[in-house]
Amino acid sequence: MAGQKTVLIVGASRGLGLALAQEYCDKDWHVIATVRSQSAQLEALRERNPCSLEIHPVDIVDVQSVRDLRARLDGRRLDTLFVNAGICKANELTPLQVDEQDFIDMMLTNALSPMRVIELFADTVASDGVIAVMSSDLGSITWNQGWWELYSASKAALNMLMKAYAARHPANTRALLLVAPGWVRTDMGGQNAELDVSESIPLVVDMVQRHAGKPGLRFTNRHGETLPW
Ligand code: NAP
Repeated sequence: MAGQKTVLIVGASRGLGLALAQEYCDKDWHVIATVRSQSAQLEALRERNPCSLEIHPVDIVDVQSVRDLRARLDGRRLDTLFVNAGICKANELTPLQVDEQDFIDMMLTNALSPMRVIELFADTVASDGVIAVMSSDLGSITWNQGWWELYSASKAALNMLMKAYAARHPANTRALLLVAPGWVRTDMGGQNAELDVSESIPLVVDMVQRHAGKPGLRFTNRHGETLPW
């Protein structure tokens, strides 16, 4: 549809990513959503929105699959890129207790891989567009209280890499957002989390889109309030 905006959501099979896909569809955006393997919930959403949702496979840890997606989408213009994919393992453990591979997996999935997606896709985002990545309150070093410390370290590393990316691209005109969605009931957030998805994602999407045309890096919650690094 002429004038329809396009968002690429990386990691949209379930949880917050699926809700992002639903929310952008509801706002009549064209949604390009990625999954690692088939997602019945995302397929159901596509059934309801046959023209506005397309699904592509990508595993962000596998950089070749990210390059393949970049090649498939060559020539497409994004208004928003939203990298949502993330994992949490060994959340109650300490550096002495954790299986090294679990820590490596979190650093790869939550810090290095999202930034590789951003590096590879930034030039497909409109000059007045938005590049958002799902961070967390727990990525704030200032606020840290020792909770989920290894996962928190991976989100703090993501924040650092995004800050370095912004510093390396001083002429960048896109908004660069590290988004803290709140503690939300998903597979990762668990059933004791404070918020239902519906109390987070609509606010996240409104906040992200309010930043279109506003260059610069921000670490922000769903309300648009700046968080301390
Ligand atoms: P979730 O329910 O566990 O969903 C995680 C999503 O990330 C799934 O779609 C998963 O795909 C995808 N993913 C994981 N590893 C991937 C990879 N290597 N390549 C591509 N996709 C991958 O978690 P969630 O609560 O929705 O979390 C979404 C994001 O928000 C994460 O970055 C998380 O750290 C962040 N976050 C969550 C909360 C919260 O309270 N829930 C709070 C702050 C930040 P599969 O289905 O294939 O596994």
